[in-house]
Amino acid sequence: MTLVLRSHFPEPPAQSLIAAFEDHVRTTGQPETFHAISTTKPPVDGDVEVLLEKISINKKLRPNGNGAPCPICSPTSPKYLSDGTLIWCAHTEAIYAIGPKCSLSIWTDNRLQTAKNVFRRSQKEREETAALFHHVRRADAFLQWIADHQGRASAAELAHREFARSMRTLRLALSRDIKTKGPTLRSSSGRALATVRGPTFLTGSWSMSRELSEAAASIRKATAEAGPDPQAWAEALAPTVRREKLKEIRAARQMLVRSAERMSAAALFLSQGNIEPLAIWSKLESSPIRFEVSHTSTKIEVQQGSDRWLGPLGLAMPDAVP
Ligand SMILES: [Zn+2]
Repeated sequence: MTLVLRSHFPEPPAQSLIAAFEDHVRTTGQPETFHAISTTKPPVDGDVEVLLEKISINKKLRPNGNGAPCPICSPTSPKYLSDGTLIWCAHTEAIYAIGPKCSLSIWTDNRLQTAKNVFRRSQKEREETAALFHHVRRADAFLQWIADHQGRASAAELAHREFARSMRTLRLALSRDIKTKGPTLRSSSGRALATVRGPTFLTGSWSMSRELSEAAASIRKATAEAGPDPQAWAEALAPTVRREKLKEIRAARQMLVRSAERMSAAALFLSQGNIEPLAIWSKLESSPIRFEVSHTSTKIEVQQGSDRWLGPLGLAMPDAVP
């Protein structure tokens, strides 16, 4: 094989060329035959920039299944199949695909490791920029989802709060029973009758309406800051500020997800398919507490001792969060 130096790059090459290199390696298994790659030994002098940290080669694509050569330590014979690195060297204005663990034979000052650290940092920044842009771009969809679900969230929250307030003893007994024995309702002989759906309706304290308003405010603030070109905005932010913004908007979306989970729990728990087996079970010896459940087409009535709750039968399920 002939060693070549191709001086094409006074600046580090564009992402499109790096993508073309990756594609070439994926299809041919031969980094050394990429049209723009130099196969001579990289220079001792000058800056080194990492373009791609991990080159992995499919062994089956290699002639004889051998590794790719390394221009530093093994330019004409097999050296590596994984952990190669694509670099740009300022001194020769060229790019090289080098093998692992031999860079110190050229650069004794840890230059490659330093370049790898810079690469990782900038890659993380790129990912955060993309994630922030992705979230801000969906802001309208988030706000629409919130507008569509405020009513459903209030209904679920009200039912949850009133049940917790009216049926304190029953709620505790049922949630404790589910926690220790699982959500399956059993007959006295141990036969499974049904599985309680939406058991989280029996626990916790819910404040979805407030959380959804907070999420909406946070999303509106982000879109106002981002202005008409969210991509440019995300790119221009200082890394620490960008990370903070990303954290905020992710937290806002997470509130939507949590609200959706609670709305689902309330809708499932208060569905007819859940209430009917619960009503049967309430009359059995195997039930941990004596209680009565009955329902009409729109209302559920639960009684336990002197406690009584009248709630809605069937709440709307939430739509998927964008
Ligand atoms: Zn090497």
